[in-house]
Amino acid sequence: MPTAAISPEVMAKYEPVIGLEVHVQLLTATKAFCGCANHFGSAPNTNICPVCLGLPGALPVLNERAVKFATLASLALNCTVNQRSIFARKNYFYPDLPKGYQISQFDKPLAEHGWIEVPTAEGGTKRIGITRLHMEEDAGKSLHDGFADSATRTYLDLNRCGTPLAEIVSEPEIRTPDEAFEYLTRLKEILLFCEVSDCNMEEGSLRCDANVSVRLRGAEQFGTKAEIKNVNSFRFVRAALEYEIERQVEVLESGGRIVQETRLWNASEGRTYSMRSKEQAHDYRYFPEPDLPPLILTREFLESTEAELPELPEARRARMVADYELAMKDAHTLTATRAYADRFEAAAGTARNPRRVANVLLSEVGGRLNALGLELEQSPVSMAGIVLAADLLDEGKISSRQMKQLFDVCFEKGEDFSAVYEREKPQQITDAGALEKLIDEVLAANPKQVEQYKAGKKTMAGFFVGQVMRATKGQANPALLNELVTRKLEA
Ligand SMILES: [Zn+2]
Repeated sequence: MPTAAISPEVMAKYEPVIGLEVHVQLLTATKAFCGCANHFGSAPNTNICPVCLGLPGALPVLNERAVKFATLASLALNCTVNQRSIFARKNYFYPDLPKGYQISQFDKPLAEHGWIEVPTAEGGTKRIGITRLHMEEDAGKSLHDGFADSATRTYLDLNRCGTPLAEIVSEPEIRTPDEAFEYLTRLKEILLFCEVSDCNMEEGSLRCDANVSVRLRGAEQFGTKAEIKNVNSFRFVRAALEYEIERQVEVLESGGRIVQETRLWNASEGRTYSMRSKEQAHDYRYFPEPDLPPLILTREFLESTEAELPELPEARRARMVADYELAMKDAHTLTATRAYADRFEAAAGTARNPRRVANVLLSEVGGRLNALGLELEQSPVSMAGIVLAADLLDEGKISSRQMKQLFDVCFEKGEDFSAVYEREKPQQITDAGALEKLIDEVLAANPKQVEQYKAGKKTMAGFFVGQVMRATKGQANPALLNELVTRKLEA
């Protein structure tokens, strides 16, 4: 275990090799091979039937929707979809697996040879290969706590048996914990945009195991790997990998050798623990599932699935940056979810200036929501309200200061922007004579700034506009004020 920090020089001698296995629950209404509800949070052992319990004589029937979702995910991850794939039995004994096997796919998976592009620390991008995406069913859940006799008994909830999963296996091409974090972030984003999973890690609908080894830089051969399980957030995956890489380097530097094993991440202690050694690979005695024929995907099925593929996050951000002249950072925020991006784009399309809608949404509404810990869906201000504010600002009918005040009222009283605007109808000073008088006063009070402007620092105009705005409590008509200030300064 890492006791003292290893020097950066020693760490730099080694290269980590990381591969990730991600299980995602597919968002179907029913399970993979029976009609039971695929639903989190039901009372234990209520969504079960002879098929998902594996009772004698029960036969599985494949859920077409699960195949649809898995295929959609495969295409979104740039995989080649196999028109013919095979279901296989993965045999092992465990109390939460009443059938004694999981239906999975082994040597002929649904899809192979995909990739995800991740940003690198140097500002470029790197492609991480995806070895395969295969379909399988989930097992049940052992309940170790929460019962009066939990100290002596374990209870079983078999609701999750037969839940459709896609397992997505990366190539061992990830080289840093940060790359692993980015890979997972992109993967989740793509799956969410495809709406094939809710990717909720707390509820177990996205689970990640990480394989990690280290080797001396320049070495061809991989080192012995450890598998880290039980990591329930992407931040923890990164932390677990950082810990594990350092642990392995320390073992090697002190002359030891790495044993192939499964290790559990303990988040509260920030370290991994050995769970079981894995000297030999598990023998799951895979064989083709005799109760299911090979899965053959027709050309029509593949074409219709391809047609359902949404615009994916990376492409959508690039287009939004171009269409609305957004900063990439803002495009990231606006594409946090597909629903968010859809709502923004639908609203922006009705506005005079879409970019201004983005600014108002992010800085005025988003900022206030963040401060209150609220989601966009919980905002008192509707998208139509945001468009109205942006349009009024664009037309110079309100100043940005007045807009801020109106939004303050919206969030104080829980009212939409249009209602508050109609009631308060902020006053505007459009009397050029009155504004000119104020401008003269401001110019006289700030001779140094006037000099700077005359010397060529044209941005000083904004300073004078701001001063007059403040003097009028934000009520000066912005367009008129801008024009008058420039005219005075150029006179
Ligand atoms: Zn069932």
